[in-house]
Order: sequence, then structure tokens, then C-alpha cells
Amino acid sequence: MSRTVYVNGEYLPEADAKISIFDRGFLMADGVYEVTSVLDGKLLDFAGHSKRLARSLGELDMALPIEMDDLLEVHRELVRLNDINEGMIYLQVTRGAPSDRDFAFPDPDETPSTIVLFTQNKPGLADTPVAKKGIKVISIEDIRWGRRDIKTIQLLYPSMGKMMAKKAGVDDAWMVEDGMVTEGTSNNAYIVKNGKIITRHLGTEILAGITRNAVLRFAEEAQMTVEERSFTIAEAQDADEAFVTSASTFVMPVVEIDGAQVGAGVPGPVAVRLREIYLEESRKAAI
Ligand code: PLP
Repeated sequence: MSRTVYVNGEYLPEADAKISIFDRGFLMADGVYEVTSVLDGKLLDFAGHSKRLARSLGELDMALPIEMDDLLEVHRELVRLNDINEGMIYLQVTRGAPSDRDFAFPDPDETPSTIVLFTQNKPGLADTPVAKKGIKVISIEDIRWGRRDIKTIQLLYPSMGKMMAKKAGVDDAWMVEDGMVTEGTSNNAYIVKNGKIITRHLGTEILAGITRNAVLRFAEEAQMTVEERSFTIAEAQDADEAFVTSASTFVMPVVEIDGAQVGAGVPGPVAVRLREIYLEESRKAAI
């Protein structure tokens, strides 16, 4: 079934949606994005995603070509038009399409930003069997640029990381900089030791995950101890549990790191419990 997508104010069949070859997203990865999950036909943490979108745009001096309030309606309309019960909404804003390629930013009064949204239908997203088994990761060097706190569309290195993982016969990669884990290719990384949840502190080195924010809040509400600091791969291999979080995988247990089994080699109780709480609370608050 062909999707209905949203491009610069119009709802169109995906085959009719067109972007200029001069779009700076296409030529220069000059854009930002958000992925919001849908469960029971409702949006998870829309407020968190729109707040981070506004921040990413602000950091790059880029304008949002739509009112924030209208953005919620576009998300909801796409869910309705595409009949999404479980899945994701992808949103991308780029610095638009000037009349020619140039490194300098175009004048925003002459070149409006481009906005695109589309749905990804994923029945069974919440109840995936992968979460019952957990995932395996390898470590790779983190050679991305220094502003990872901005959710830009420059995803070449994370894509290469996923391919390195695939080649190694595992599911994902954790990136390491100066001996410390930064994050997964498309998720935040955590370990659990003696009941304490450890995850890297926020900064320009990692993306402030919307799921991370919610999960840490739920963990504290459930009287779990959280420590925000960096950790090494060796510490992670020696941990009782490991897991990752992202908008589309929620809380996903990690059972192997660089070939070493983590804990008992099966999803640990903290990750399993946090996944349950996250899904339950997010569903309740979904709009
Ligand atoms: N870190 C990176 C590099 C990501 O790409 C993502 C999500 O795509 C995350 C963390 C998790 O962020 P969120 O929980 O907002 O999906």
C-alpha cells in the first residue's frame, strides 16, 4: 500500500512527493530529524521530541517552516491517513533548496526550510521477540563529529557501524571515544552493576535521548539508583546487565559485548522491568 506523506504543507502519495536536487539535506546533510513512535495509534512523548527538534534547529540557526502546534496535527493526520497502530513517524527539516550549491547558508527569507514527514508501519513493535532474547553488540571507534547532541541527518558513520556489526554477525555497535563508551549507533547505552544503572552523562558527545530521559525518570520513581557517568567496554562486559534505549526500540537488553557474555547472557531483571514500566507509562501518556 502506498503511503501518504507530508511535504512542505501538502499530503501526497509517496510517489508524487518531490524534493529539489539542490536541497541542502540532499547535498550537504544540512538538516535535522526526529523519530516519534506510535503505539495504539497514539504518539509517544511528542512533547519531548518537539522540544528536542526546536533545540536542534536553534543550534543550527535553522527555521521550522510550520508552527509547533500544527506539527502535532500533521503527525496525527499521518497516523490516521496511513492507519498506523504501531510504528514510527519520521520527520526531517533541512535548510531548504537554494538556487545553486554553495557552502554558505542561504538567506532564510529567500530559501524556506524543507519539511518532510512519513510513517513507518511496524506491527508488533512493542511485543518484538528480539526484546525477549536481547541483542549482541561489538565496539567500534567513535569517529563522528563533535556535536552529537544535535540530531542531524549525517548518519553515514552510524550506518557504517551497523554494517560493521552485521559483518561481525551481531546486531549493533557501541561507539568508544578515548576509551569510554559514548552511545550505540542509534541508541543510548547503559550498564547495571549491583543494582545501579550507569549511563553516560549528557554533553556534546552523545544525543540526549528522549527515551533516556523518560527511562531515567521512571527508574528514579521506582527507587532504582542511577549514576550518570561514562564507562569502558571492560566495565560493561563485567556488568550484571546491559541495555540500550531509543524511541523505536524502547528498552532493549544487550546480552553480549565484543563476544563476551553480559551477566547470565539473557535479558536482566532491571532491563526487563524498565521496558515494562516504559511501555506502560508511555502508553498511558500517549496522545
Ligand atoms: N543516540 C543516537 C546516536 C541516536 O541516533 C538515537 C536515536 O535515534 C538515540 C541516541 C536515542 O534517542 P531517542 O531515545 O530520542 O530515540
